[in-house]
Amino acid sequence: MSSIDPIANPQYDKNHVVDQERIANAVREILLAIGEDPKRDGLTKTPERVAKAYAELVAGMRQDPVEVLSTTFDLGHEELVIVRDIRFNSLCEHHMLPFFGNAHIAYIPDESGRITGLSKLARLVDMYARRLQVQERFTTQIADALVEVMHASGVLVVVDAEHLCMSMRGANQPGSRTLTSAVRGQLRKAATRAEAMSLLGY
Ligand code: ZN
Repeated sequence: MSSIDPIANPQYDKNHVVDQERIANAVREILLAIGEDPKRDGLTKTPERVAKAYAELVAGMRQDPVEVLSTTFDLGHEELVIVRDIRFNSLCEHHMLPFFGNAHIAYIPDESGRITGLSKLARLVDMYARRLQVQERFTTQIADALVEVMHASGVLVVVDAEHLCMSMRGANQPGSRTLTSAVRGQLRKAATRAEAMSLLGY
């Protein structure tokens, strides 16, 4: 995986254990800072709840694509495989607010026709979503994993998402969507890419 850019792809310590007590203390500080009373009824357990939620939301930092894509089938299928509408929820790294939507994956298997199951692709998307992300990196990481781990000869990933940092604050544009795509190998050919895009409904 020497092609991975360490800046575009942060590397994580897989043995790190999320320090939930530290998160809870920080959340108590946030509550005080916004003028809330962390001791009032509804909030007494909030810091611990937030800490537990964060541990889940970043669980993908402790996983890698090699484990997730471990099961493949040699079906001798060398044609386009398309999986649409893989739902995901992630956190933008600029505001730590959710962004969510659908990932669509089109790929052409390697010469041996090695394919993977829908559930593995969904797990791959989920793994990269459970990290602090930017949509562009999320999109390219999915594409690169299919090339590097499955040796797919062509990949097209389209991510269609709504960012709460744009909907709830700042630009205040509820419902606006951001589309990103990453194309690798044979899917770079205009005709093949056009076929994939039309099958994806774009
Ligand atoms: Zn953001």
